[in-house]
Order: sequence, then structure tokens, then C-alpha cells
Amino acid sequence: MGTTDVLVIGGGPAGLATAIAARLKGLRVVVVDSRIPPLDKPCGEGLLPEAVESLSCLGICLDSVCALPFVGIRFSDEHSSSVAKFASRTAFGMRRTALHATLVARAAELGVTLRWGARVSDLSFCGAFIDGGFLRCSWIVGADGQHSAVREFARLGGRRPHRFRFGFRRHYAVAPWSDIVEVHWAEKSQLIVTPISPGEICVTLFSSDSRLRIDRALDRFPAVAEHLRNLTPTSTETGAITSLSRARAVARRNIALVGDASCTVDGIAGQGLSLAFRQALALADALAAGDLSAYVSAHRRLTRVPIRMSRLLLLMNASVALRSRILRVFARHPALFSKMISIHIGQPAPVEARGLLGVGWRALRT
Ligand SMILES: Cc1cc2nc3c(=O)[nH]c(=O)nc-3n(C[C@H](O)[C@H](O)[C@H](O)COP(=O)(O)OP(=O)(O)OC[C@H]3O[C@@H](n4cnc5c(N)ncnc54)[C@H](O)[C@@H]3O)c2cc1C
Repeated sequence: MGTTDVLVIGGGPAGLATAIAARLKGLRVVVVDSRIPPLDKPCGEGLLPEAVESLSCLGICLDSVCALPFVGIRFSDEHSSSVAKFASRTAFGMRRTALHATLVARAAELGVTLRWGARVSDLSFCGAFIDGGFLRCSWIVGADGQHSAVREFARLGGRRPHRFRFGFRRHYAVAPWSDIVEVHWAEKSQLIVTPISPGEICVTLFSSDSRLRIDRALDRFPAVAEHLRNLTPTSTETGAITSLSRARAVARRNIALVGDASCTVDGIAGQGLSLAFRQALALADALAAGDLSAYVSAHRRLTRVPIRMSRLLLLMNASVALRSRILRVFARHPALFSKMISIHIGQPAPVEARGLLGVGWRALRT
């Protein structure tokens, strides 16, 4: 069946970004995915500035023709509300299928071989049987999502996440009422509203209850319910499991994991795509250098802040008292919220993180 330098298993955002980055380094790349495009997945559909900047390193420049810019994030509950703006950096809301099509087009333009609907029946360190034929390769990249089979094959599986949550997503045809992403907090659930086009928004619900759906949850979010009253959804509601978990290690011999296969942060953080794209760029550097150890340390560095941020957000989800206290502190000290969001989006914090923690801690105690 042939040979290639890099075999990427999984043609989602992480796999395609890795394929593009590796191709830009001159490597021959084959991507296989068991599904056939257009590939969709429940997602908040927000691309934070780091995701947008990484895409531009891959030669994909988002603009307001293909996506809708948003300028910041709001956290609110029934008592408090705080907004942080991104200063000069750009973020976009974009339909997941449109993002996937854009990545596919770029990969094809660069000469990546794309094999959709392909079945990987057996894997070894020197290649894989794909639809019955053997493809020999130098490197294997597991980009096959949070239930990664490549991770299991390479014995890189991590500890089972102790807490799963569920994310449900639906679109509505309406002119966005805001140019920021809204994160509404209620008891052990959050509703996120992302503007994704001049005539459409994406609504995502996160909770620990697998039976809770957006319509029923709207009772907890009266401000959003008011906006959605009498609107007809433009997509069916789809859901996915979300969790905070990571692989025991992200590389073994000639196999590397990228994206959700390597580490998932709870969807509420909105950072999965940023992380996947940044990991892809670091992985391509390592593949081109023929040494995965640089990727291992880059991966550790890239995931540190998102994991901490997810833990904080999950803590706020778990305790109503803590959440309302933190949101009240943010509302009283808007600069504190802005600094937290700066750290969240990878912007150098204007004050030392320790100083920031001190301000937050004093405010929480008062
Ligand atoms: C509800 C929800 C909302 C979210 N919102 C946001 C957000 O707003 N912003 C953000 O940045 N992130 C968000 N995320 C996270 C983001 O969606 C993920 O981090 C991202 O999809 C990871 O991409 P991936 O390519 O690693 O995995 P996936 O998107 O899961 O892609 C994996 C691919 O591998 C393929 N595959 C699997 N097994 C095999 C196999 N054996 N052989 C071949 N192919 C295989 C699958 O078909 C799939 O195409 C959200 C997540 C959830 C659950």
C-alpha cells in the first residue's frame, strides 16, 4: 500500500492541524479517519485568540467572511456579572463544520493524503493496516479523540477521569445580541452563548446530568430563555461527554498523541481547540527534528495553565457558595477578572500571578 513519513489517525481539528504543520515542514503525511466529512462535533464553537493565532501559523487566516469575531468573555449568575475584553487580540465564533472544512481544504492544498471512511484494523510501531492494506510509516500520531485507540495501543492511557460532565449544543437563527461570549452560571450547570455569524448563535449547556437538555435547563437561565423565546433552533441538539483528563505520557517510541487523545480540559474552559493547534505546531517541530522529547516538554508547558484553569472552573461548578462568592469578587474587582481571562487566553499577565492570587484571596476572605 506504500509508505509515508507521518500517519495521523484521526482527522478532527488536532489531526488535521498536525498534518498541515508537518506538511509545512516538508514531511509526507497521510490522515485516516473512520468518518466521512462534513465532520461535526458538539462544541461551543469559540476560537480563543491562541487558536486563531495558531491557525494563522498554519496558513489559515480567519476573517469576518468565514467566522464572526467576538471581543471578550462575560461570566454571570443571578447576582453578578463581569466582562473581560481581549484588548488587541482577536477571537472568533465559527460553526464546527465550517472550521473542519477550512482545515480539510488547507491540508488538501498542501498535498496531505486524506483517507475518509477508512478503517484501521491493526496497528504496529512500523505502520498500520488500513482497509486491508499495510501502510508503512516512520511516525504515528494518535489524534483520535478522547477515547483514543492509539493511546491504548501505545499503553499511554491515563487514570480514568473521576468526574465526567455532559455538553449539549444547539444553534438558533437570530442576530447575536452581544459581541462577547456569555458564560451563564447556575446550579451545577453553565450555559454558553457564542455568536457565530451575523444571523446565528451557538448555545451550549454543560452539566453533570446526562438527562438534562437545553430546553429544560433554560428555567435556570431566565435571561437567555428570554432571548430564545419563540426562536426555532437551526440544528438538532447533540451531546458529548467532557472531562478533565490526560494521558500518562504523550509519546512512546515513534508514537505521539495530540489533541483530546493526549489531554482533555472540560469544555467549559473553551480551550480544547487552542490546545490542539498549539500542540500540533510543537509536534510538527519535533517530527521534523526526528526527536519527540521536545514535544513531551512542550506539551507539559502548554497544558499547565489550561488544566489549572479547568480545575478552578470545575470547583466553581461544584460549589454554589464558592461560585457566587467568586463571581461577586470579580464584579467588585473587574481588573481581577480581566487578569484571570488574560492568563486563560495566554496573554502575559500585567501583574505577577502571585500578586493576582493575593488580591483574589484577600477579596474572597472579606
Ligand atoms: C460540549 C463541548 C464544547 C466544547 N467547546 C469548545 C469551545 O468552544 N472551544 C474550544 O476550543 N474547545 C471546545 N471543546 C473542546 C474541543 O471540541 C475538543 O478539544 C476538540 O474537538 C479536540 O479535537 P481532536 O481532533 O483532538 O478530537 P476530535 O474532534 O474528537 O476528533 C477525533 C477524530 O478522530 C476520529 N477517530 C476516532 N477514532 C478513530 C479510529 N479508530 N480510526 C480513525 N479515526 C478515528 C474521529 O472520527 C474524529 O474525527 C468543547 C468540547 C465539548 C465536549
